[in-house]
Formats: sequence, structure tokens, C-alpha cells
Amino acid sequence: MDLLADLIPLRQHCQAWRTQGLSIALVPTMGFLHAGHLSLMDYARTRADRLVVSVFVNPTQFGPNEDLDRYPRDLPRDLELAAAHGVDLVFAPEPQAMYFSDHATWVEVPELAKGLCGASRPVHFRGVCTVVTKLFGLVRPDVAVFGQKDWQQLAILKRMSRDLELGVEVVGRPIFREPDGLAMSSRNVNLTPEEREKAPAIRQGLLVVQAAVRAGERDAAKLALMFRAHLAEKLTSASVDYADFVHPESMSPVVRVEGPTLFAVAVFLGRVRLIDNILLEV
Ligand code: AMP
Repeated sequence: MDLLADLIPLRQHCQAWRTQGLSIALVPTMGFLHAGHLSLMDYARTRADRLVVSVFVNPTQFGPNEDLDRYPRDLPRDLELAAAHGVDLVFAPEPQAMYFSDHATWVEVPELAKGLCGASRPVHFRGVCTVVTKLFGLVRPDVAVFGQKDWQQLAILKRMSRDLELGVEVVGRPIFREPDGLAMSSRNVNLTPEEREKAPAIRQGLLVVQAAVRAGERDAAKLALMFRAHLAEKLTSASVDYADFVHPESMSPVVRVEGPTLFAVAVFLGRVRLIDNILLEV
């Protein structure tokens, strides 16, 4: 497995593969890899001849009061895990290598970024779209694999790749969970032991809503209150950032759950913000 930190060698490496007729899959990450990331790599490995993983805590997708400085990092461990999962090349640049000091170009999909995480993190998706566009331009992958845990991100990147004719198939993969149901996240290590113990209440709250939909409840406002009441009881220290129902592709708000609907939530446990979601089918 190769490790590169500079852009030109990355471009040359990938260009050489393409010249040989080899297809390329890309899995972008912010590192501190867990089994969720590894599940994306295992899938991506089956989709192309060569697998590139980026490990980059992208500063432009963090707002001024967010956790850029607290974001966990462990590149040596990430490299071991990536090698064990058949990755051919890890790209781990420093921010100065990734962005010119006078970087001035931004990619945005504002229509899909209005609600959910886009509402509470105003520059987040602009940063994500821009860095992913740069990675697509450097690697020129045939396929790029993302997790459904960040469903809004996935919807935005699918639309971006389609609208801009980037020629990359953007694929989403299921949420990988801890045995107790908590969605795996690099940020879980920042939870206190007590928060970690109670955090599965988030997933349980999603299942409470799913059960209510299956029992016939259609009113999104009532369903959202059920989630909030569940958390207020089981996870008293939590504060709900949002608990919203949206169309799974357009991300537009859903008032009545009559067709496929995404229920997405973001919850603060202390300073740690966790997200999760569930696709409701009726
Ligand atoms: P991150 O390192 O958090 O930016 O995540 C990198 C990629 O892994 C994104 O496409 C995420 O959606 C995906 N991912 C993160 N956590 C999970 C999970 N628990 N299950 C599946 N995919 C995940």
C-alpha cells in the first residue's frame, strides 16, 4: 500500500492506473477509522481494480465554533487498518497542500443544504462539496463510496456529481452500528463513559418513530415529538439539534409520512454532536 501526502504524485499515480485500463474506487474519510469506514472500503474493493482512501480532516467543512481542533486523529493506526482492508493508496495531505492560500472557488448545492445539518452548520456542505470535487479531480475515480449515516451529504454529492457531469458514480452504503445500536462515528471517542452508555437511546428513538409509522401515525410533527419525548426520558443530558422528516432525495420537508421519508436527527451530548437517521417506508 502506498501513502501519499502531495497532490501531484497522487494525480500521476492514478493517471498511470487509468492508462493501464484499471478502474478506480475512492473512499473519502476524515480518518480515525472505524468499522463503518472499513465496511465502505470492503464494498469499494469489490467495485474497482484499485482502491484509494483519503484521510483528511477538511478544515473548510468546519464552522468557527465547531470541533476541528478536537477531531480525533491517528494516521499510523488508520494506515494499518487500510492495508488490512486491501487499500492500494492512502492519500493523507496537510491542509496547506490541499488548499492554495488564495483558494477562491466553492461548490455548493444550496437547494439540498437548506435544512438538517446545513441549517445548523452553514459552511459545512460547501466545504464537503469543494473538497470532494477536488478529490474527484485528482483521483478521477469511476466510483466513490459514502455512508448513509451522513444521508444529506450523500444526497448532495449524488446531485453534485450528476449536475456537474463529474463522471463519478456516487454510491451510498448502510449505517454500521455498535452492538448496542449506536451509529459508529469517529466522534464517539469524545463521549464520556456515561454519555456513551446512554447514547444508544438515539437509535432507539428512531425505532420508536418507525414503530409509530408502522402503526399508522402519519403526522410528522407528532412523530418528531415522540422522538424528543423518548430522548428527554432516556437521555436527559441530550439536546436535540434537529429531528426532521424530509424527502430522501430532494431533502425537502415532509409534513405527512405518506411515501418514502427520511427521519434524520442530530443530538448534542455535551459538546459532541451525533447524527443518525432511518428511512421510513409506508
Ligand atoms: P467521516 O470520516 O466521518 O467523514 O466519514 C467518512 C465516510 O464514512 C462518510 O461517507 C461517512 O458517511 C461514512 N461513515 C461514517 N460513519 C459511518 C457508519 N457508522 N456507517 C457507515 N458509513 C459511515
